[in-house]
Amino acid sequence: MHRDIVIVGGGPAGLTAAELLAQQGLAVGLVHKGPLGGELPSLLWVDGVPGLDAPINGAELASQLIDRAQAAGVTFISREATALELYSRSAVVALSGHGFVQGSAVVLAMGRRRILGKDFRKFEGRGLIGCTACDAGFYRGETVVVCGAGHGGAIDAINLAIHAERVILVERSNELGCSPELAEQLHRNSVIEIMLSSEVSGAGATASGAIDAVHVNMKDVGPRTLPATGLSIQVGRMPETEFLDSGVGLDREGLVETDECCRIPASRIFAIGEVRAGSARTFASAISDARAAAHSILSNFSGMA
Ligand SMILES: Cc1cc2nc3c(=O)[nH]c(=O)nc-3n(C[C@H](O)[C@H](O)[C@H](O)COP(=O)(O)OP(=O)(O)OC[C@H]3O[C@@H](n4cnc5c(N)ncnc54)[C@H](O)[C@@H]3O)c2cc1C
Repeated sequence: MHRDIVIVGGGPAGLTAAELLAQQGLAVGLVHKGPLGGELPSLLWVDGVPGLDAPINGAELASQLIDRAQAAGVTFISREATALELYSRSAVVALSGHGFVQGSAVVLAMGRRRILGKDFRKFEGRGLIGCTACDAGFYRGETVVVCGAGHGGAIDAINLAIHAERVILVERSNELGCSPELAEQLHRNSVIEIMLSSEVSGAGATASGAIDAVHVNMKDVGPRTLPATGLSIQVGRMPETEFLDSGVGLDREGLVETDECCRIPASRIFAIGEVRAGSARTFASAISDARAAAHSILSNFSGMA
């Protein structure tokens, strides 16, 4: 299959770039694994959306972006990108199963994936919370633990506190890593308890394998067991760049290094959103990356085969 531009990843960054480029008459193929929308459908609300004064439900925001990309004429290709090959006048993205899609330029928008150690993977569907927007209601009246007090962990704790009786937010460092505004919301919320200088080390299970406790190591205090039926892990997100070949410059964390137009210098490859080194890791920054890349593509690649 040939398209003018190939986009890999169907989160807010990929959907927005696809819409902007297709609106200008380019044939855009968007390769996505799993449902469209990236992180958004799992979020009860997203704040800081440009043009909105109030937070918006993540699934609703995702469906707006999907509808707009669809209306602009984007071709959705529901497959995983498994390799990227660079040629002098094009780039080719190999697809899972078989086949490929070729374009004059490729935009990488794969976000970052949650990394789960094997100790926790076995609790998927058994108390390990994968999608807070989908699952929060199941924890009504229960105790849940959120691991990691960065932006994602803080928002997760606030959302879980709507239903849960007790939310314990466990953070390894001695301070919260989220914004002061979120920190204030955490401190004001009587359902949420914060454990700093503490690390989640494992979970205990019932006979059927469901979480019934979370083990925590508290610095200067030692191990503690917290009775809890749910655990949300909001640390250790890694970029999804394993399939890229050595022609793509990655930093030590595996993030794609680009210039200020989100382009790998002198190449046909762009990287936008959370997969880009230096990303602010917000919805607004994903959109602003998508705009910068679309603008650069329209100036440099439009009409090239
Ligand atoms: C709990 C939490 C709360 C948040 N709350 C907010 C908030 O309130 N406000 C805010 O501004 N931001 C918030 N964020 C951050 C925001 O969601 C992200 O910055 C944004 O989703 C990043 O968009 P993206 O398109 O770069 O990546 P993603 O949304 O991660 O999308 C990437 C997509 O690419 C797909 N993909 C990966 N590899 C491949 C491949 N090889 N082939 C095909 N597809 C692939 C992935 O499956 C995924 O669907 C939050 C994040 C979390 C985790």
